[in-house]
Amino acid sequence: IGGRILDLMPKEMRRNALRLMKKAIESDEPVSYEDNIKGKYHQIYLIPVEGTDKRRTFQFIVHEIDDIKRAEIDIATKKRELEDVMDNMIDSMFITSRKAKIINVNNSAATLTGYTKEELIGSYPTMLLSKDSIPSFFDALKKLQAGNKVELLELTVKRKDGLDVPVSINISFTTNLKGKQGKLVVVMRDITERKKFEEKLKVALGDYKNSIEELEQFTFIASHDLQEPLRIVASYVQLLSIRYKEKIDSDADEYIDYAVEGVKRMKGMVDDLMDLSSIGKADKSLRPVECEKVLDLVISSLGTTIEKSNAEILRDPLPVVMGDNSQLIDLFSNLISNAIKYRGSESPRIQISVEKRDDDWVFSVRDNGVGIDPENIEQIFKIFKRLDKKQSGTGIGLATCKRIVQHHDGRIWVESEPEKGSTFYFTVPLKQEEDYE
Ligand code: ADP
Repeated sequence: IGGRILDLMPKEMRRNALRLMKKAIESDEPVSYEDNIKGKYHQIYLIPVEGTDKRRTFQFIVHEIDDIKRAEIDIATKKRELEDVMDNMIDSMFITSRKAKIINVNNSAATLTGYTKEELIGSYPTMLLSKDSIPSFFDALKKLQAGNKVELLELTVKRKDGLDVPVSINISFTTNLKGKQGKLVVVMRDITERKKFEEKLKVALGDYKNSIEELEQFTFIASHDLQEPLRIVASYVQLLSIRYKEKIDSDADEYIDYAVEGVKRMKGMVDDLMDLSSIGKADKSLRPVECEKVLDLVISSLGTTIEKSNAEILRDPLPVVMGDNSQLIDLFSNLISNAIKYRGSESPRIQISVEKRDDDWVFSVRDNGVGIDPENIEQIFKIFKRLDKKQSGTGIGLATCKRIVQHHDGRIWVESEPEKGSTFYFTVPLKQEEDYE
């Protein structure tokens, strides 16, 4: 008591204090200011009070507010960071109250909608959506409020200038400190480019499907229409062979043999083409098929071929799959007869196996035959592609197998080593009958 207050103050505080004391004296009003004293924030109050002896008196209060001040700075920094992050986002972000009134938006939101930030704040996200988008938005919001997960929505934004913009929308709630739903966060992404691309893809796919259908139609009609003239040629060539063989000369015999052989091959091709084109036409009513029975049938129908070639067939127990019985017979028959046809120097040993992999049955037909050059491995499933011209064949068998497998929503491929043998794999989905209902 009796000392000068300024003498009690740390030096760095004096200048501000003096200035403010003057101001308080002049105005006769309380003055308050913040000062950083010795690295800590303080709030200083100067309050003029009426002294008892009528002398000018001040109450001088120094209050340390370091914790509060630092917390405030922290919050302000975080707020600024959040705004920077939001404004640098390509996606548009709207933060709304629990009642879905917009309380904050980023720059992209303004660009997407054509409204200014000020216009957006205070409005509702639903006001930015096209009429038919609103019910889906509300449905998703209700689901989210009930605590359920919500998928990405694909809706339409109606811009201020009236243009429609397709967007994908993700909605989520922030959580408050008690873990309860806080604010609603709506993130929108402009998907105009993707939609355009999807549209183009759809058109291209349609064109592709049309050309496949046309091609299938062509194959069907061509093979169908070829049958009749072929039948006539075949009958007359046969007649020629019966009547004139060994009656003209050896050249004529040779020519007739070539003609008979050619007609036989052509008939094989036409029949195979008919089979191939009928797969695409078959409706996709798949039923439970016992692969054991299919294989029994195939083995017994290849009986003479198996016996003649001295082939040994090893087989795993096979499952019941959802399929088309006669197509699966063709599939096994093609693969097994190829395994015998393209045999090496040893007698054929064929292993038929199956295993479960993910959602599929993976069937395999392994042989010890001539194998396939790696460079041809992709080619052999193409129609008319034949590697071994010494063997008779049409080059349609594996194309048919591929079609059949695709018809069953599966894949087919081959692994092979020349001279050692090949393994043909194909998949059939593990689905049960009820999965198709
Ligand atoms: P094709 O047997 O009538 O020639 P495919 O479409 O059945 O027609 O087969 C196409 C080609 O793939 C065959 O010509 C043959 O070169 C090759 N190929 C098929 N299966 C095997 C196999 N198991 N081993 C070796 N090569 C094979």
